Amino acid sequence: MKTAEIAQRYLSYFEKNDHLIVPSASLVSDDPSLLFTVAGMVPMIPYLTGVVPAPHSRIADLQKCIRTNDIEEVGRTARHGTFFQMLGNWSFGDYFKEGAIRYAWELLTGSESDGGLGFDEKDLWVTVFETDDEAEAIWRDVIGLKPERIQRLGRADNYWNTGQPGPGGPDSEIFFDRGPAYGQDGGPAVDDNRFLEIWNLVFMQDFIDNIRGKTEFDIVGELPMKNIDTGMGLERVAFLKQGVENMYETDQVRPVLDRAVELSGLRYGAEHADDVRFRVVADHVRSSLMLLSDGVRPSNEGRGYILRRLMRRTVRSMRLLGVDEPVFPELFIASKEAMKSAYPILEQDWAQLSAAANAEEETFRRTLDAGSTILDLALADTKKSGSETLKGSEAFLLHDTYGFPIDLTLEIAEEAGLNVDRVAFDSLMQEQRSRAKADARNRKRQIADVSVYGDLRAKGETAFLGYDELEASSTVL
Ligand code: ATP
Ligand code: MG
Ligand code: MG
Ligand code: MG
Repeated sequence: MKTAEIAQRYLSYFEKNDHLIVPSASLVSDDPSLLFTVAGMVPMIPYLTGVVPAPHSRIADLQKCIRTNDIEEVGRTARHGTFFQMLGNWSFGDYFKEGAIRYAWELLTGSESDGGLGFDEKDLWVTVFETDDEAEAIWRDVIGLKPERIQRLGRADNYWNTGQPGPGGPDSEIFFDRGPAYGQDGGPAVDDNRFLEIWNLVFMQDFIDNIRGKTEFDIVGELPMKNIDTGMGLERVAFLKQGVENMYETDQVRPVLDRAVELSGLRYGAEHADDVRFRVVADHVRSSLMLLSDGVRPSNEGRGYILRRLMRRTVRSMRLLGVDEPVFPELFIASKEAMKSAYPILEQDWAQLSAAANAEEETFRRTLDAGSTILDLALADTKKSGSETLKGSEAFLLHDTYGFPIDLTLEIAEEAGLNVDRVAFDSLMQEQRSRAKADARNRKRQIADVSVYGDLRAKGETAFLGYDELEASSTVL
């Protein structure tokens, strides 16, 4: 079953059940506290909070998402993409727990010939929040799931909240058992690799307050309007339905992986470390394409820095796979071809998307050539001196003089078996910022032309904002 067909089945099913189907919002979230749309619920926030009335009490969609906080998992787990697509259905004061559970179950286990996804119920497990007797009873008595297939978990796993006073609620997650070859028995409470999370059903029912931490807060009341918010990972269902090992091998991603393998002359499946890199490349190329398509351009701060990092990591990974020639001209088109039937805009905007990608790669290649030589020498010297830590001043020099990104220095040092003195690096960064501020103040006094001052400031002060932004972007909903 192709990825597009799974999405189609989902949307048709919910449309048939009186949901309004709405288009995906942009990856660039309207919410200023979020860099990107990280879940299907993000564009629904105004409806969920009641600030804006929903156009219909039931909505479903396929939402493009970016999760930078999953970047370290990419290629290592089977299930985490920086870009992925979340199918979701919402009820705004309409159906609640029983409706949400029944719909999810019917769609998942419905036969393929009836428009369902054809999962065998013997492969499915669920979790519920530790005190949610109601959800457990629905799974057991209404759906008829065996009690041993229902596990209770605490706040960290099964209670949704935003970390702010406001709406919260228990959730119930549905998992697919990939079998003993993938890990231990014992259900999703024990092993999240063997038991693959596919769908999260959130029951927004509580008002929470006195926030003391992610799982430390008080449930102080009930919401006047109870809502349903669900999210199913399209790529996860696709990899299960396509009988492949992970989301990077599905029809919308695999062509990029294959092209990367061809360019390298290596074989996918021969060497674990190489396989991880191939998967990272396939993921990051697609994420870059989708971000560019939503108007993000590589830069040194905010969203642009994330895009830059994804693209640069692609180039670096391909170098580590032995490919020194430009890679975006080859990989980007493979991703566009695989994604264009779902997103025809990619074809329409192709000329400018590919030009932007190729230009960024060229810039980076120049930076890399200069920086890597210097870093390699510094690492060799560090080793020779018997130390395991690259000096913060060396990392700072690379950043400051050569524009060589710190995350790359960290990555390359790690690959060479060394640490980087981050404390020293950070304090040099801090000094540089203070210096830049002082310089800017001086210049402001000296230069009457404010617009020139603005330019200088932009160059001097924003150069490294990116890394901080990246850290700050690890916001999970
Ligand atoms: P996990 O525990 O596997 O990281 P999650 O609990 O963080 O997943 P949710 O926030 O519940 O995920 O998102 C809803 C659904 O979206 C998940 O059940 C999963 O199917 C899908 N999903 C979440 N993160 C990713 C990702 N990085 N790549 C692909 N699919 C994802
Ligand atoms: Mg996660
Ligand atoms: Mg989870
Ligand atoms: Mg979840």
